[in-house]
Amino acid sequence: MPRFSGKTVIITGSSNGIGRSAALLFAQDGANITITGRNAERLEETRQLILKSGVSESHLNSVVADVTTSGGQDLLVKSTLDKFGKIHILVNNAGAAVADATGATGTDQSIDVYHKTLQLNLQAVIEMTKKVKPHLMETKGEIVNVSSIVAGPQAQPDFMYYAIAKAALDQYTRSTAIDLIQHGIRVNSVSPGVVATGFTNAMGMPDQASQKFYNFMAAHKECIPALVAGQPEDIANIILFLADRKLSSYIIGQSIVADGGSTLVMGCQVHDIKQMMGL
Ligand code: NDP
Repeated sequence: MPRFSGKTVIITGSSNGIGRSAALLFAQDGANITITGRNAERLEETRQLILKSGVSESHLNSVVADVTTSGGQDLLVKSTLDKFGKIHILVNNAGAAVADATGATGTDQSIDVYHKTLQLNLQAVIEMTKKVKPHLMETKGEIVNVSSIVAGPQAQPDFMYYAIAKAALDQYTRSTAIDLIQHGIRVNSVSPGVVATGFTNAMGMPDQASQKFYNFMAAHKECIPALVAGQPEDIANIILFLADRKLSSYIIGQSIVADGGSTLVMGCQVHDIKQMMGL
């Protein structure tokens, strides 16, 4: 029997990148899944990808929603319960390094960018966790958060609000893990390094600059010692591992780093980000 057979999973940010890959793997492994994002067209691409892999429509709930809104969060929870009856796994994956429309960087970035960044990468996770908690208490379920290596101790002047949000998310993961394990709910997290997804596009980098950025990273061992940018599946596989109680039951409140070795060197900090994008 597939390992997630009979389990229901909500994966935020599954219209693209890591979330899309995790949705496909969960669905192929027997889960009922709620896929979601704001972009209806990209969400439909995820749905089609899953259907084409042989998964039946009855295992899929596709919801266009903004996860930073209370209405969007409620819709995710309600439509999942309406279709599947229970929730066993919540993957808080939606996230982005929100760019300042004026091009400002570092301390010049606006407070509006700060609010938007924290609302998506931190507050939405807190709100989704609170809303799904009663249902996970019933099923003794799992939460997997998607953090980032930028949460670590190194300075991140180019992405400071995003790094602040992910650092806070790591503390939230640890604290909720202890708070919720008393109810039988496990909380863990994965911290990716550079992964080739829509992430850079979402920051406003065009395809060509994104490609240059990934190529630069993969060509410099002080950036990625493994000399390769990660693929969404590299992270999705860890999400499934952390959501699978048979494999990871004794891991509580931890974040697994998957970064091709970047955090062991963090040498990319010496390079100028504009140069890395070929600008
Ligand atoms: P993508 O841009 O490819 O995917 C991000 C997903 O989040 C999309 O499905 C997007 O959907 C969704 N999303 C963004 N904002 C919202 C919103 N307001 N409401 C609902 N959904 C939203 O990036 P990744 O797959 O790389 O990102 C996934 C996670 O991985 C994020 O938390 C990111 O911080 C983290 N990460 C990524 C790294 C990388 O190098 N790629 C490195 C470290 C961490 P839509 O646009 O349709 O709303």
